[in-house]
Amino acid sequence: MTFTNEERRILMIPSGWQEPQVVINYIRPITPMLAHLNRPGDKRPETRAYVFHGTGNLDHYANAKANGAYFRRPFHPGEYLDAKGYRVKGYIEVGSLGSGGLGKKFIIASTHCICDRRRVEVTIPYAERAYNCGDRRLPWSEKERGMPPLAVRLFGARDPVDGKMKPYPNSFTWSLEIAMNDELPNSSVDWDESCMTARWYAVRVALAHGDDLTKLPILRHHDVTEKECPSPFVGPASEEAAWIRFKAATIELYKFFRVV
Ligand SMILES: [Zn+2]
Repeated sequence: MTFTNEERRILMIPSGWQEPQVVINYIRPITPMLAHLNRPGDKRPETRAYVFHGTGNLDHYANAKANGAYFRRPFHPGEYLDAKGYRVKGYIEVGSLGSGGLGKKFIIASTHCICDRRRVEVTIPYAERAYNCGDRRLPWSEKERGMPPLAVRLFGARDPVDGKMKPYPNSFTWSLEIAMNDELPNSSVDWDESCMTARWYAVRVALAHGDDLTKLPILRHHDVTEKECPSPFVGPASEEAAWIRFKAATIELYKFFRVV
């Protein structure tokens, strides 16, 4: 749909932004018997929050399409050194096999979609888990298990899918990455438009799945694990304020689309 100038002003839509192309490009199993490590395929029992990430890669070419390809990249069985320096069998990055038959451990990470200025690359279906923010980063305590109190409150102490005793946000979150590629040097238009695509797509998904964004928590990865993500929305007061504005603008857009 097109927006009038008045709507663009009220809804904080950047003047040059146009509706993006939505490309469904799911992470596929490696073989019929072997799921891709980044898309185990298990179902999420429910949605308790939308979680926003930033890709963290400022490279000009690191757009939604490139990030989608990264999450879909292949892997193969091999051996690598774990954090303690022990040789372990597992899956390694393609092309990483080096001396002594050791490779680089395949790093598992995924998201439901990536948004840039002009494109949404959808990598995991809404109803499935994505490995977007399950990492434990804080000092361990029996009650909070390394997670911020908010995560414990929202996601509970036990993962409903595998039964492990820890809050497991990936079972309850729909996730979106905002591309941070520096497509337009010395300009904030690329970031602003990518953020707009993210807001627009989150609203579309919410309306399609009956998630009420005036009630459902809209979170940063930072809120769930305290990781600095999306980095332009975490840190000094100006960046925290930018996140508050982003969130408010997302809710306004949702309310607008809900009635039109
Ligand atoms: Zn993140």
